[in-house]
Amino acid sequence: MPVLVMKFGGTSVATLDRIRRAAKRVGVEVAKGYDVIVIVSAMSGKTNELVGWVAETSPLFDAREYDAVVSSGENVTAGLMALTLQEMDVPARSWQGWQVPVKTTSAHSAARIEDIPPDNIRAKFDEGMKVAIVAGFQGVSPEGRITTLGRGGSDTTAVAFAAAFDAERCDIYTDVDGVYTTDPRVSAKARKLDRIAFEEMLELASLGAKVLQTRSVELAMRYKVKLRVLSSFEEQSDDAGTLVCDEEEIMESNVVAGVAFSRDEAKMTLVSVADRPGIAARIFTALSEGGVNVDMIVQNIAEEGRTDMTWSCPTDQVARAQKAVEDAKSDGIINYHEVIADTDVAKVSVVGIGMRSHTGVAAKMFDVLSAEGINIKVITTSEIKISVLIDRKYMELAVQALHDAFELEKAA
Ligand code: ASP
Ligand code: MG
Repeated sequence: MPVLVMKFGGTSVATLDRIRRAAKRVGVEVAKGYDVIVIVSAMSGKTNELVGWVAETSPLFDAREYDAVVSSGENVTAGLMALTLQEMDVPARSWQGWQVPVKTTSAHSAARIEDIPPDNIRAKFDEGMKVAIVAGFQGVSPEGRITTLGRGGSDTTAVAFAAAFDAERCDIYTDVDGVYTTDPRVSAKARKLDRIAFEEMLELASLGAKVLQTRSVELAMRYKVKLRVLSSFEEQSDDAGTLVCDEEEIMESNVVAGVAFSRDEAKMTLVSVADRPGIAARIFTALSEGGVNVDMIVQNIAEEGRTDMTWSCPTDQVARAQKAVEDAKSDGIINYHEVIADTDVAKVSVVGIGMRSHTGVAAKMFDVLSAEGINIKVITTSEIKISVLIDRKYMELAVQALHDAFELEKAA
């Protein structure tokens, strides 16, 4: 029997009624002849509540016990989903991560899946079970302790099962009906995409489009797992939602697939650092050892042997970055005149695999921003993405103007 993986996020299992609705969707796929693996999240809000309880009980909590508590929300929904399906006369059984087992590293609260031996679940399918419901977000470490995969980790559980069982597809049921050209709350012209390439989705996911956990997309790309993102609140046809797939499976696409943005950016500059070999290495070693996630980097033209070094990082890491460079300065590792932090910036990016073969996207993007009177502070590019840092108050305007200029409301 072909295997289908269906993942239901927290809002899709938030009440017993919604679990029933999700179970009906599962029943439809079983009737088509699939063996179904259902991955469930905790009921919406549950994981936050559990995290809060842990922090309140023990501010410097033991990570093993954090995982023991925080993983429990998924156990509840897995059991309830199995019971609901049984009430519908669908042979179903629930599995916690350790029972499968979902083998992970021992990095508690941020574990990675290493292996999912399919034998236990396969044996049950062979005996006539039609649906295996697996608690998402959790696994077991080599030491035999419960682990969790990081917030949003059920997406990654789902993709990992699809890869391990060679599933025909991995359907991610959520509270939006697909992946959009940009956030519909920012541009009313945002359009749902029928298909998007793995690499584009990866850029959009890491740029702050929060539909899928970034790691789940990486995994899907590596194992070529077809992912479909769709709403659990609407009646679904076979081609509903957005298919995240290999670029070969996309016939026509716009040069720019989407506009992404992130409000949570800060720009920092070290004024007047020496311009000689090894200085950049020392600055960014200090930052990385200080736990700062640097994103964009710009080194200005040098004058008389001195230059300015600029980078961007998440806003909540500015204090850490400041301390890291100040410590490095007082230890004599680096030297600079002053450090400036600008926390009123936002990052706006255009993404599309078409950029590999089309020129002029950057020129057009900068033109559009200049026509709106928006100053660009930092620019970075990759093969399929151009990002700029601008004043945060212009972020919505920039997203709307770029969406219009690249005509993203129209399909290719
Ligand atoms: N329940 C977990 C969370 O809220 C995992 C997930 O739903 O993906 O992060
Ligand atoms: Mg999620």
